[in-house]
Amino acid sequence: MKLIKNRLEIIRIVKGLRSRGQTVGFVPTMGFLHDGHLSLVKKAKEQNDIVIVSIFVNPTQFGPNEDFEKYPRDLEHDQKLLEGIVDYLFVPSVDQVYLENETVGFKIADELVNCLCGVTRPEHFPGVALVLTKLFNIIRPNRAYFGQKDFQQTVVVKNLVSGLFFDLEVVVCPTVREKDGLAMSSRNVYLSLKERVQAKILYQSLMLAKDLFEAGEEKSEVIIQKMKQLILSQSLAKIDYINICDAETLFGVEKIEKRQVVVALAVNFGRTRLIDNILLP
Ligand code: AMP
Repeated sequence: MKLIKNRLEIIRIVKGLRSRGQTVGFVPTMGFLHDGHLSLVKKAKEQNDIVIVSIFVNPTQFGPNEDFEKYPRDLEHDQKLLEGIVDYLFVPSVDQVYLENETVGFKIADELVNCLCGVTRPEHFPGVALVLTKLFNIIRPNRAYFGQKDFQQTVVVKNLVSGLFFDLEVVVCPTVREKDGLAMSSRNVYLSLKERVQAKILYQSLMLAKDLFEAGEEKSEVIIQKMKQLILSQSLAKIDYINICDAETLFGVEKIEKRQVVVALAVNFGRTRLIDNILLP
C-alpha cells in the first residue's frame, strides 16, 4: 500500500492506471477505521482492479459546535488495518483539498436535506457534497463505496452523481454491527460504558419496527410511537428524530404501502449523537 498526501501525485497515478485499462474503486472515509469501513474496502476489492481509500476529516461538513477538532484520529492504526489490502491510501491535508479563499459551495434541494439529519445539521450535506465532488474529481474512480448506515448521505450522493454527470457507479453496502446490534461508528468511542450498554436499544427499536410492520402495522405514527417508548426506557437516551420516509425521495410517509421506506433515527447519548436505519420491506 502506498501512502499519498499530495493531490497532484494521486491524480498522476490514477491517470496511469486508467490509461492501462485498470478499474478503480474508491472508498472515502474520515478514518479511525472499523469493520464497517473494511466491508466497503472488501466490496471495492471484489469489483475493481485497484482500490483507493481516502482518510480526510472534512471541516466543511461539521457545524460550528460539532466535534471536528476532537473527531477521533489514528492514522498509524488505520494504515496497519489497510496494509496489504488496498493499493493507495490518500491522506490529504486540508490545504490539498480546499483553496485558501474557497469560493465554491453547494446548495442541495430542500427536500433532501430539510429532513432527518439535515434539520439539526444544516451544514453537513452541503459540506459532504463539496468534498466528494473534489475527491471524485481528484480520484476519478469507476466506483465509489458508501455505507447504508449513513442513509441520507447515500441519497445525497446518488443525486450528486447523477446531477453533475459524474461517470461513476455508487455502491451502497449494508450496515456492519457490533454483536449486540449497535451500528459500528468511529464515534462509538465517545460513549461511556453505561451509554454504550444503553445504546443497543437503537437496533432493538429498529427490529421492533420491522416486527410491527411484518405483523401488519402500516401506520408510521403507531410504529414511531412504539419505538419512542422503547428507546426512552433507557435513562440516557435523548431522541433527536425517528422518521419513516420514502427510501428514494426521503419524503415522510404516513402509511407504509408499496414503496420501500427507510426507518431512520438519531439519538443522543450524552454528547454522542448516534444514527441508524433499516429499510422496509
Ligand atoms: P466515515 O468515516 O464515518 O465518514 O464513513 C466512511 C464510510 O463508511 C461512509 O460511507 C459510511 O457510511 C461507511 N460506514 C460507516 N460506518 C459503517 C458501518 N457500520 N457499516 C457500513 N458502512 C459504514
